[in-house]
Amino acid sequence: MSSAKEREAKIQALRQVREQEEEARKRLSQIKYKLVILSGKGGVGKSFVTANLAAALAAKGFQVGVLDADVHGPSIPKMFGLHGQAIYAGPGGLLPLVGVGGVRVVSADLMLPDEETALIWRGPMKTGFIREVLSMVAWGPLDFLLVDLPPGTGDEPLTIAQLIKDLSGAIVVTTPNDLTRIVVKKAITFCKQLKVPLLGVVNNMSHFTCPVCGTKHYIFGQGGATRLAEETGVRVLAEIPIDPRIGESVDNGVPFVLAYPDTETAKSLMSLADKVLEALKAEAKPSQEGSSNSQ
Ligand code: ADP
Repeated sequence: MSSAKEREAKIQALRQVREQEEEARKRLSQIKYKLVILSGKGGVGKSFVTANLAAALAAKGFQVGVLDADVHGPSIPKMFGLHGQAIYAGPGGLLPLVGVGGVRVVSADLMLPDEETALIWRGPMKTGFIREVLSMVAWGPLDFLLVDLPPGTGDEPLTIAQLIKDLSGAIVVTTPNDLTRIVVKKAITFCKQLKVPLLGVVNNMSHFTCPVCGTKHYIFGQGGATRLAEETGVRVLAEIPIDPRIGESVDNGVPFVLAYPDTETAKSLMSLADKVLEALKAEAKPSQEGSSNSQ
């Protein structure tokens, strides 16, 4: 390609990026609170917390959407009984699928031809995908958009933070063991550097309560989240106990808070939703225009 043509191609590409960013901003302006859920490390239950916080907020009467930005390990659709279904385009853009509990879901998993297809993408492709999705999805007016970020502090979290400039807050998911605490601190530093308001830490798999004798067992240790909170100045929003039935609720495609509402784990997730509402009232500003169920 001649250098003039190359220059023209670059200008075109940049113009397209700007147009997508502008479109994304317009669409997101209909959402009152935009939250990111992140962790330093995989396997701590970030997607589980995201899905159940979304279901808990929806059960309280809010309009909620979840963007599964974990493009390499998308698991949100399965948690809402949507795995195997496909997103389609309507006249106003891509239409989120509505999962169990009324939560609107968008995920790369809902755009792949079959469950074995893996996305083999480098950074620029992932950031391009996220930008394109945000510019195309017709969420409609929402009270909450929860973005489930992939583990770590790489391309996708950075893209989201840059694209959604008015993020209302971040929730950091951790587990009690010390290794997780150290890695999760990096996620907290990431939020501080990008000036995303930190709503708090969720200590998942905090303990297991014996169903027979009621004794609490701290399987992964104790005190890690409190130490993390002390070291970083970020409060602990919830302690979510281990429940062996979680796998079953995922397989059945029903969020745990709806499948087992009377359990200690479901109650802690419902209380997390209340804490998030309180933290938002106290710290974060809603983004521009509101939505239906403003509190
Ligand atoms: P991440 O998104 O951090 O990679 P997931 O949400 O996919 O983690 O959770 C990892 C695994 O742990 C899943 O099998 C999930 O069902 C399980 N899990 C998460 N939280 C709990 C919990 N509190 N009790 C029992 N199992 C849990």
